[in-house]
Amino acid sequence: MNATRVLVLNSGSSSVKYQLLDMRDARRLAVGLVERIGEQTSRLRHTCLTTGDVREQSGPIADHDAALKAVADELAKDGIGLDSPELVAIGHRVVHGGMFFTDPTVVDDAVLTEIERLIPVAPLHNPANLTGIRTAMTLRPDLPQVAVFDTAFHTTMPESAARYAIETKVADRHRIRRYGFHGTSHAYVSRATADLLGRRPEEVNVIVLHLGNGASASAVRGGRCVDTSMGLTPLEGLVMGTRSGDMDPAVIFHLQRVGGMSMDEIDTLLNKRSGLFGLCGDNDMREIQRRIDEGDDEARLAFEIYIHRLKKYIGAYYAVLGRVDAVAFTAGVGENAAPVRAASIAGLEGLGLAVDPELNAVRGDRARLISPRDARVAVAVVPTDEEMEIARQTYALVGKGGTDN
Ligand code: AMP
Repeated sequence: MNATRVLVLNSGSSSVKYQLLDMRDARRLAVGLVERIGEQTSRLRHTCLTTGDVREQSGPIADHDAALKAVADELAKDGIGLDSPELVAIGHRVVHGGMFFTDPTVVDDAVLTEIERLIPVAPLHNPANLTGIRTAMTLRPDLPQVAVFDTAFHTTMPESAARYAIETKVADRHRIRRYGFHGTSHAYVSRATADLLGRRPEEVNVIVLHLGNGASASAVRGGRCVDTSMGLTPLEGLVMGTRSGDMDPAVIFHLQRVGGMSMDEIDTLLNKRSGLFGLCGDNDMREIQRRIDEGDDEARLAFEIYIHRLKKYIGAYYAVLGRVDAVAFTAGVGENAAPVRAASIAGLEGLGLAVDPELNAVRGDRARLISPRDARVAVAVVPTDEEMEIARQTYALVGKGGTDN
C-alpha cells in the first residue's frame, strides 16, 4: 500500500494546531487545536471530518509532549492513528529558516541545529516550532519529519530587494536582511490565483495581500517571490492588527532618548500596542467597521491609515513587477472585509485595477474574482490554506515512494 497521509503540525509557544490530510486526493481527515498548553485550563478541540465527530476536552495538558500524545489518542479513536502505515510523514511549520533553508527539508540533527541558530532572529516562534518537531520525533522516530519554512518562498528575492541600505559588514555579521514571512501562504495563494485565471504559475505576475492580524504583501513574478513587505522580523511593512509596520527608524531613538523608554518597552509598543490597536484601541476589523458605521472618527482614521499604506504597497509592487495579472486578497481581513478590498483598490483605474461592488459583496469560502468582467488586471479573493500547502510540500518531498515507508 502506498502511504499517502501527512500530519501537519503548527506548534506555537502554548498551542498546537494540527491537520491530518490524505494527499491521494488532498482531503482533510481530521483537524484540531490544543490551546493553553502548560496551564490548568488547557483545551483540545478535535474534529474528525470523515465521521463529522467533534470532541472537546479541557483540563491541564502539561507540555507539548502531552499535547501531541493527546492528539495521537484522538486520531486513534477515529481509526486514523499515528501508528498507521498510511502515514508517510509529519510536516512542521517553522517560522524562520534564514537564508539557509530555501526549500522544505527533512529534519536531521544538522537541521535542528540550524533552526536553533536562528532563534535570535525569531525568538517567539522558532523555539516552539523546534519543541513540536522534537516531540513528534519521539512519537514516530521512524517517520520523516519535514520542516516547511515561512521564509522559504521569499529566498528568491533579489539582493536589491532583500538588503537594507546599511553598512554591509555590520549587516553580514548580524545576518540582517529582509527575510519575509507568511511565505507558505504567499506561495499557496499565488499558485491558486494562477489556477483561478486558468493559467500556469510561471505565466502570471501576482500581488498577494495577506491581510490577517499580521499582514504582508508580496510581488510574485512567474511563481517566484521578488519582493515582500515583512523584513528581518514581521514588524516591517503594512499596518497590522497590533504592529506598526513601516516607520522612520529614528522614532525608536527618539522614544529611547527623549521618551525615556527601554528597548523592551519600545519592542512591546511597536509589536503589541501599535497598528490598528494603537490607533483606535481595536485590532479586529469587524469592530472597526462597526465603529465607523456608528460615526466613530478615531476608527475611521485608523482605517484610512491602514488603507493608505496598503495602497502604497500595491503601487510599489506594480512598479516592481512592471506587468500585473492579478491582485489577490487573502487571510482574515482580505477574505472577509469587502470595504478594505474596495477602499484599497479605489482610484487605481489608471493601473487597470477595479472592484465590482456586487461581486465584492458576495461572501464565500472559494477563490473568486471580484473585478469587472472586462478588467485589464484581475482582482481576486483567494482563501489561504497554509496547512494544505505544508502537506503538499511535505508529500512532494517524501511521498510517492520517495521514502522507504
Ligand atoms: P487571521 O490572522 O488571518 O486569522 O485574521 C484575523 C483577523 O481577520 C481578525 O483580527 C479580524 O480583523 C479579521 N476578520 C476576521 N473575520 C472578519 C470579518 N468577517 N470581517 C472583517 N474582518 C474579519
